Amino acid sequence: MREQGCPEGDLFSFLSLQRKKDLGYRNILSSMCTPPHPVAARAHAMFLETNLGDPGLFPGTAELEELLVRRLATLMHHPKAGGYATSGGTESNIQAFRIAKKQKPVESPNVVVPASSHFSFLKACDILGLAMRTAPLDTHFRVDAEAVESLVDKDTVCIVGIAGTTEYGMVDPIAHLADVALDRDVFLHVDAAFGGMVVPFLDRPIPFDFHLPGVDSLSVDPHKMGMSTIPAGCLLVRNPEQFSCLNVDTPYLTVKRECTLAGTRPGASVAAAFAVLEYLGMDGMRAVVAGCMENTRRLVEGMETLGCERAVTPDVNVATFSCSRAPAGWRVSTTRAGHMRVVCMPHVTRDVIEAFLKDMSDMHA
Ligand SMILES: *Cc1c(COP(=O)(O)O)cnc(C)c1O
Repeated sequence: MREQGCPEGDLFSFLSLQRKKDLGYRNILSSMCTPPHPVAARAHAMFLETNLGDPGLFPGTAELEELLVRRLATLMHHPKAGGYATSGGTESNIQAFRIAKKQKPVESPNVVVPASSHFSFLKACDILGLAMRTAPLDTHFRVDAEAVESLVDKDTVCIVGIAGTTEYGMVDPIAHLADVALDRDVFLHVDAAFGGMVVPFLDRPIPFDFHLPGVDSLSVDPHKMGMSTIPAGCLLVRNPEQFSCLNVDTPYLTVKRECTLAGTRPGASVAAAFAVLEYLGMDGMRAVVAGCMENTRRLVEGMETLGCERAVTPDVNVATFSCSRAPAGWRVSTTRAGHMRVVCMPHVTRDVIEAFLKDMSDMHA
């Protein structure tokens, strides 16, 4: 710390210098985040100082969290699901594993996770002392449900399916996994951190949510395709009573117990997440998703014309290609298997796609 404080003008000059080092979203094709929707930014600013960790002090904000959970639970075909706003997919996945583990006390618990799973499950397994069994994928980068079943044994506390894989944008055969989960009486967690705000708005939604009886919990992230401010995730659980296994006593707060992982929790991004859903409605979200899917198709078609074959036809707006080099000035990412990956987020508009294709074409010329 400085002995004497820094004058405000100098401070903010320094901050804007730092901010200028950040990339603008215009050329970022690698991120699952996007600039917040204007109503999200406006709502966020209104709720800056709110703390959902002590909801009795902020009952209005706490009601917004409840409304957000109700909206998302209804979208996921189970209006009575329990839930709370997390900091994102990572926290949701950790908490889902905690619940699953407590439902089935065994000596050496294991979980069965698709090879395509997000690295947050590595953290979850490490924290919770769970052995991770990795199930292989089929040729379309979806998990092989039969392989999942063969990995399940009496010590399996959770199966994971992914709706919208981070790398290839695939939706696992969740209906099949749900049957396995029911047959073998195992908890099924669906990681829809990305796809949860995409699949319900597709022309032909792929079944992945509580509509399938075997699905026990879901992660969905408003701070990705929900265009909220960061951090905004949500964990939903079919049976709300299962949250009570996470409760700890909170003696000096306005509530007697809490089941969340974080203590102090932002209300601002929760208000922002709710604001976007309310403002856009189903129609507005369908329009956003339709645009992103159309741009994904255009990108795939344009890249193939340039000789960069698609790795797979994605279920959601993540495109992957059998080439690795991107033109200067663009940020793309590379999957573990070496494919170029582009996430067609709302800021990746048709103009952006065309500009990228033009630069790709110049590079190949
Ligand atoms: C992004 C993502 C996560 C992690 O979410 P964070 O919000 O970054 O913690 C987990 N699972 C999937 C499928 C994701 O796409």
